[in-house]
Amino acid sequence: MASSEFIYELQVCRWAELAWPPDDSTSSSYLVARQLGTARRRWDTVVVEVDPQALAFRHQFGDRELDSDLLHIVRHAPAEWTWYREALPDPGYPWRYVREAIHRAAARGVVSKRKNRNRIQIKRIATYPDWVTRVIAIENKPDLDASAARQLADQLEYDVTTGLADEVWLATQQTGQQVEPALLESLPVEAGILITDFDGGVEADAASVEWYPNRLSASMDDESRLTRRLELAERAYGRGWRSYYETMRPDCRFFELRPNGRGLLPWCAAKQCHQSSAVCSGACDAFEPEPPAWRIRGWPIEGGPGKAIKRLLDVRARQARNSTVAFDQP
Ligand code: SF4
Repeated sequence: MASSEFIYELQVCRWAELAWPPDDSTSSSYLVARQLGTARRRWDTVVVEVDPQALAFRHQFGDRELDSDLLHIVRHAPAEWTWYREALPDPGYPWRYVREAIHRAAARGVVSKRKNRNRIQIKRIATYPDWVTRVIAIENKPDLDASAARQLADQLEYDVTTGLADEVWLATQQTGQQVEPALLESLPVEAGILITDFDGGVEADAASVEWYPNRLSASMDDESRLTRRLELAERAYGRGWRSYYETMRPDCRFFELRPNGRGLLPWCAAKQCHQSSAVCSGACDAFEPEPPAWRIRGWPIEGGPGKAIKRLLDVRARQARNSTVAFDQP
């Protein structure tokens, strides 16, 4: 991914956090995440609209995501102690994997477990709520040239036919001219189009609607669609969009976070640019570890230390998850 695409993706995520939905006609509660999807399809930005009360109940299961195995348990765990094989639907794979997942779920405190005459019994800690109302996928293409438009058309067509998301959008950068109609012609009419202008940094009004999407209809049966959407929403809940630092080097002395309107973007002081996650890795030839002395100085976020940056992004992610509406801090 080119540096500009990565940075654009972070800007779109931050904008969505500030200003979703783009037509401002309805208020909604939502979470924003990036680089989520299925084995076949990965979306750049994902907005999960939620029922805020139900999401508050979801918080009882902790801050971390529940993967598909854990979801299978917490969604079906009974109110009373029951042998797990009687409580849970047949998983379609060996029960020993379910037992392993039960131990994992109990260790995380998301289900209660006990042994009764050599049988593992489970009981729920709370009812897992139905907290996801809509899933919106946004594909980011800052520079929409003809070949990007063709490739995107196929991807969006796939999204439209599977209906895993309720809406799909393309976000593209304002060019100064109108977006070439010929480029947009090949896109499915069901996909919405957002035109962004981040020249002045990320602000709530930095994107406008060029084309409204249609609500997609599902091609999957309800249960498998619900399960796939929940798995996706759980990943969005656990990861948000700020976890990019996990694949970068905030422990490098040149790694900074710089304000960009109402957002913060990674900046490399050695290369004097917004670096991509691909470049900012262990293989970077300009990498230099933070001097040990920095780690004892309560350093500000510019210039490190890396741990303070990670902490800041973690705190922001937690605040965004717990507020679930236009989140104000960068
Ligand atoms: S020098 Fe390399 S590792 Fe360090 S911040 Fe810049 S891109 Fe990242």
